Amino acid sequence: MKPETPMPRLEMADLRRRFGARTAVDGVSLSVMAGQVTCLLGPSGCGKSTTLRMIAGVERPDSGRITVDGRTVCDGALWVPPEDRSIGLMFQDFALFPHLDVARNVAFGLTGPKRAVQERVEELLERVGMTGHISAYPHELSGGEQQRVALARALAPRPRIMLMDEPFSGLDDRLRDEIRDETLDVLKAEGTAVLLVTHEPAEAMRMADEIALMRDGRIVQQGAPYNIYNAPADLAAAAFFSDVNVIEGVVRGALTETPFGQFLAPGVPDGTAVDIVFRPQHVKIDFDRGGRGPNPTAAEGTPARGIVRRARFMGAESLVEFQMDFDGSILKARVPSVFLPRVGMPLWLMVRRERCFVFPRH
Ligand code: ATP
Repeated sequence: MKPETPMPRLEMADLRRRFGARTAVDGVSLSVMAGQVTCLLGPSGCGKSTTLRMIAGVERPDSGRITVDGRTVCDGALWVPPEDRSIGLMFQDFALFPHLDVARNVAFGLTGPKRAVQERVEELLERVGMTGHISAYPHELSGGEQQRVALARALAPRPRIMLMDEPFSGLDDRLRDEIRDETLDVLKAEGTAVLLVTHEPAEAMRMADEIALMRDGRIVQQGAPYNIYNAPADLAAAAFFSDVNVIEGVVRGALTETPFGQFLAPGVPDGTAVDIVFRPQHVKIDFDRGGRGPNPTAAEGTPARGIVRRARFMGAESLVEFQMDFDGSILKARVPSVFLPRVGMPLWLMVRRERCFVFPRH
């Protein structure tokens, strides 16, 4: 028997929204499964928040369909108001009610018998580790504690879907990582389907099961964080996640010849100009031996020489910038800080071939 395909909790089909001459959302289709975190990731202005607002029901799409748990909540004239969509919200500027204590903040959206409400509040405060603050008022809590209460409040009515828009941006770095992990644990335990909006690749990679990379109102690539990071769709997608090095080449016989050796360009027609793209952490460096480089392994390709122009110690790693002998261009390497190269020093660079991306140049 064929296993049943699980039904998505949230489905968007061809959502569109214009503001005057500007198209903010240009045909977005996406599904979010129960117990999964899907992340809309992209630069400022690419349409993430507008998409989220349309799902929440506070913005009306020009066209497209939104389905929650198999029930259509928006399609042409059909329109279910926000409060009837069973959607929880957690936004950057979330605010707890200042005049209510923690327990009453969490209980705010709950209806039903008092005992059941109290049990749900206690269960959630336990989950977010705030049992000890049940009678505190928001002004008596730290930012991180307030965030935990906000999460408990958003989850209290057991929303089928949780929308989060940059929910951790008000926190300092260390606390943010901690709260991200805790939030994820709570969301997974509740089995909620989550759509998270962020412009930070690190946040998306840490939290998401699935990333939808957005640009100019469209989803340009979608997949697990590992796959998007390691197989970006184009140069911009690669560069969105980290610094990248780019060298230029031309394809001949499904190969492109560079000072670092040959790179495969399967299916790319002869004569196509390409960018060979690699991240600084995939560059290996070695000493100059009287003008000669090291003997590389097959995976490392041909070594090319550069002169150190800048070296920044960053703890476990150092970031080194080289000016390359072959064309004077600058390439960056992130290398273990076993030694910090001196400016002016000649060194040999090798590129891990299997970590390079070859994209036709636009
Ligand atoms: P950010 O990360 O900065 O919040 P975003 O990716 O969430 O950005 P949106 O807020 O969805 O982007 O905005 C997408 C585009 O639509 C932007 O160019 C923005 O200026 C425009 N826009 C959004 N809301 C409105 C509005 N109410 N009226 C006019 N233009 C708007």
